[in-house]
Amino acid sequence: MAAAPPAHLPVRTVPPPAIVWPHPSAVQAKGTPARMPPPVPRVTPVRGVVRGVPAVQARAATPPSRILAVPTAIVQCKLGGPAVRKIAATAMGKALKFDDENPQQQDLDQNRTLLIEACGEQLAPATQEHLTQVAAEINKKMKPRKLSFSPIVVQVQQVVQVEHLDVFHNSAENITVKTGAATVFVLARVEGQAVTDQPDGESVAAGTLRAPDNSKVVTDTTGDGEVESLVENLDKFFAYLENTAHQSANRHFTVALSGSWGACDGCKKRIARFRQLWRVKAAECMEQGTTARLTITYQYRNAAKEIREGNLYGWGEDSKTGGWYWHTETDRVDGTKEPEEI
Ligand SMILES: [Zn+2]
Repeated sequence: MAAAPPAHLPVRTVPPPAIVWPHPSAVQAKGTPARMPPPVPRVTPVRGVVRGVPAVQARAATPPSRILAVPTAIVQCKLGGPAVRKIAATAMGKALKFDDENPQQQDLDQNRTLLIEACGEQLAPATQEHLTQVAAEINKKMKPRKLSFSPIVVQVQQVVQVEHLDVFHNSAENITVKTGAATVFVLARVEGQAVTDQPDGESVAAGTLRAPDNSKVVTDTTGDGEVESLVENLDKFFAYLENTAHQSANRHFTVALSGSWGACDGCKKRIARFRQLWRVKAAECMEQGTTARLTITYQYRNAAKEIREGNLYGWGEDSKTGGWYWHTETDRVDGTKEPEEI
């Protein structure tokens, strides 16, 4: 019988596979099934877990493949409708080529670059599936003319990788589909360690995460489980960044969230604001020549659903791996600070 991990250590769940798309094996002629990767081992749920005691984790004998089958990758990368429409509108404001008769390679490349740029304002990195969704949205508006895009999917071999975090809060495995939506566990770390720098009270910037705007999806949800953790952890990240001892080497900041439901539309805005504020601060504090990265992964049990009117909880559908749905957003900034005089 396996022993429960010590209570103070974060639980390492079965690592979800990264999305690598298009994988060479996935780019095949129509009608040929893509080679399937080995199945990802499932976490066996532990019955009768005592409250407060971490669940025992089933461990895979060998690391699971980190390459997803294409259909799963597509579902995991799905954007919400409003996000797709916004990115499509941005892209349509640029010099896209709309000639489907005999597209030239340079036109395809130009379209792809413009779509990536449009995605980049909201997503980092944009996956191939994001581009496909945005192109489909543009085509809906541009009928009968078609955007020269679909051939790109099989012609461009650029690999875009989305790697989900695999270490979450100790109590995450106690979350079931029935756990209340207000229960969200957050594990925020830098370089895999808890941040020990103490913020000097709450910053005005972090406080804006409670209500990044006055929309109903935001004002209805200021008491959601993520909100206070996001405020507190942004200030901890700020304190870490302001410590000159941390500014001269590359740093990876991570926020791992676990809940029965994914983020609502209000909390999606809070996460977007969190990322924006982090990017500004990291660029300002980190020294020239260094890079800071931020990875936010949300794992949740229930498929995306509109719980309150007009407010969607979660992002994708049918993308369960190891008992969770997975959503990851990442950022990367280069430091701009002049190195300290020694
Ligand atoms: Zn929320």
